[in-house]
Amino acid sequence: MDPEKAKGEPLLPSLGEMFFQPLEDWLKAENEKRFRLDQLAEWYFKRPECSSFEDCGNLPKALKEKLSRNFAFCSLKPEKALSSRDGTEKNTLLLRDGLRTETVTMPMDGHTTVCLSTQVGCPVRCRFCFSGRDGLKRNLTAGEMADSLRLALPKEGFESLNIVIMGMGEPFFNYANLKTFLSLCQAKRGFNIGSRRVTVSTVGVLPGIVKFAEDFPQMNLAVSLHAPNEKLRRLIIPGAPSKISELIPALKSYFSKTKRLVTFEYVMIEGINDGIKEAGELARLLRDLDCKINLIPLNDVPGQEFSGSPEANILRFEGKLRECGLNVTVRRSKGGEIKGACGQLAARRGEEDPKAG
Ligand code: SAH
Repeated sequence: MDPEKAKGEPLLPSLGEMFFQPLEDWLKAENEKRFRLDQLAEWYFKRPECSSFEDCGNLPKALKEKLSRNFAFCSLKPEKALSSRDGTEKNTLLLRDGLRTETVTMPMDGHTTVCLSTQVGCPVRCRFCFSGRDGLKRNLTAGEMADSLRLALPKEGFESLNIVIMGMGEPFFNYANLKTFLSLCQAKRGFNIGSRRVTVSTVGVLPGIVKFAEDFPQMNLAVSLHAPNEKLRRLIIPGAPSKISELIPALKSYFSKTKRLVTFEYVMIEGINDGIKEAGELARLLRDLDCKINLIPLNDVPGQEFSGSPEANILRFEGKLRECGLNVTVRRSKGGEIKGACGQLAARRGEEDPKAG
């Protein structure tokens, strides 16, 4: 049920969906000056503390009122923000149809990283991940993604910003909206975030990889691999949208087009994919691909059927890959105590650890 409709209020288009051409057309049709577009863009993209048309100080009162009658300034309502001791903050945001999305903001040395979602739920259902437990609810629109980024930005300001599209959902199954959103991130009069500061993570949707290389050749691509062979990968990701034998050549051509190193994400699961044999196999698989490997300690989620690899296994695995000449790092997990770490974002309510809420 739509909470706003239920209250009898009309569902207005949201401002985040209007950049840039539709808003320019609307202003023209309303006989407003063209520079109002730049003023609105300034308030929306550069001033995250601004939360209503009323706050847009340099707009005439009549225009503010007209905008409020025609558009919603934001399509999301912040519901709760949880902070963990390491400074990570998770925001739960209510969408206008009653569903929820989540963002995670992580302060790191000298910069802030914001993790965003692209879907509510996820159709892929990796066995270790909580985000897709109930399947896909729906895609987020570009405006919802833009609103979620605004709301995730630290109010006290930040030095530099990295965006990682590693929250809930498979970004390349929502490519059109993702593309609009990433264009807003890139645009000088939009969020103006350098492309090299944006990373999109995919489970391996091949058409998406091809389009991403064409549309955003300067951005970073991460691929959730999690296994060195098809059999093991199917066990962990039964619904994987591509085979390893197709994925590796697709990533070779991605690299030859973009010259960007691909990062492989590999969740470490005890006794499943963390043996020395798998490390050797992985090294052989990735031998002639320009890439980095990020080993991810498994985070706990409700009903987790796997156990995370003990530290010793992770170190052994890392050592073997390094010995084979691969570029490998181990991810420091952030936000675990507030269920804001990878795979812990929930599409439904009431599943979170009560201690976290
Ligand atoms: N669908 C995309 C992006 C979302 S997942 C993808 O698969 O890449 C982002 C990352 O979080 C992926 O590498 C995913 O495998 C990882 N992840 C999911 N659940 C996790 C868990 N329980 N512990 C650690 N990492 C997890």
